[in-house]
Amino acid sequence: MSTTIPFNRPVTVGKEFTYIQKTIENMDLSGDGAITKKCHSLLEDILKVPKVLLTTSCTHALEMAALLLDMQPGDEVIVPSFTFVSTINAFALRGVRPIFIDIRPDTLNLDESKLEKLITPQTKAIVPVHYAGVGCEMETIMDIGSQYGIPVVEDNAHGLFAKYKGKYLGTFGCLATQSFHETKNFTCGEGGALLINDPHYVERAEIIREKGTNRSRFYRGQVDKYTWVDIGSSYLPSGILAAFLYAQIEARQQIQTKRQEIWEYYYNNLQDWAQEQGVRLPIVPAECEQAYHMFYLLMPSLEKRQALIEHLREQKINSVFHYLPLHLSQMGRKFGGAEGDCPVTESVSDRLLRLPFYNDLTQEDQARVVAAIKDFYTGV
Ligand SMILES: *Cc1c(COP(=O)(O)O)cnc(C)c1O
Repeated sequence: MSTTIPFNRPVTVGKEFTYIQKTIENMDLSGDGAITKKCHSLLEDILKVPKVLLTTSCTHALEMAALLLDMQPGDEVIVPSFTFVSTINAFALRGVRPIFIDIRPDTLNLDESKLEKLITPQTKAIVPVHYAGVGCEMETIMDIGSQYGIPVVEDNAHGLFAKYKGKYLGTFGCLATQSFHETKNFTCGEGGALLINDPHYVERAEIIREKGTNRSRFYRGQVDKYTWVDIGSSYLPSGILAAFLYAQIEARQQIQTKRQEIWEYYYNNLQDWAQEQGVRLPIVPAECEQAYHMFYLLMPSLEKRQALIEHLREQKINSVFHYLPLHLSQMGRKFGGAEGDCPVTESVSDRLLRLPFYNDLTQEDQARVVAAIKDFYTGV
């Protein structure tokens, strides 16, 4: 009997244990020691970002963004309804009101043509999410942001090392956030990063991340003692997590090459079936070099989606759906969300299905997934 193919599985690349052992030998356990600094420099060098700060999660990096932008109760943030809770919850924690925007039917990214209508004097940020690691229309979004003087914060949890018009995602907005949760391309279990593209936020970001103290300046010898200077929290991961992450980022080519192979295998082998069955495969615009974060199918209906999940489960293949529209969630409704506000989101949320995708998914297992799918008829 064949084994179950999980939807996701975290995978080591090899050097994690070596780097963790070294980190323990060096007693580099707390945040911002040598190995954390190596992660910062590596990401800054690759992405050409003025400052990268590792955080305990992408959620926490987003919370830092809300603090850095001085979000106040009553402020508004424009955010897609089709995203993970943290994209907006980090702002809601400051009393911010989410203004949900619908997505484009092709990339499932924020629909930039709907942006201007949602801007009010209270709008304090636009938060695009690069869904599946395929870039949003950053040119238009950045133009609108600068025209209205509204900062753009990229939730780039899916899109590390992907590009839009040749430029890395996460390098457009004044701030951007990454996730190293075990469901993402690169992981340390739980972790994230804040990318600071506008250097004017660097000093305060260091303070907010270090419990509201100027400890980072103290360590650099810029002040002779450190003290409480602002609000903040503890957003630094341990050196042990940074060690794990360093091994993963170092192996980025190996990881991304493998993920590209997985994505292309699904795409090439499911194209004909999808066309016959009225199923839509992911769309990647020419100006986007994607991150190969996930592979999804857009089924013709909710019923067919549920039936395919069940059909795959019977063959010991786990597939999942997401996101439930945030504007229709219990919290979203408290902010006035109602059916029909974001029609594309509502439709996609019912029909999207994600296939198994992880760094050591074998072609044999992938062939099993493809065969099981081809054995499913939508009746369209
Ligand atoms: C995973 C994810 C997050 C949260 O990441 P954590 O590191 O788990 O906090 C935020 N936004 C999006 C779009 C995500 O997919």
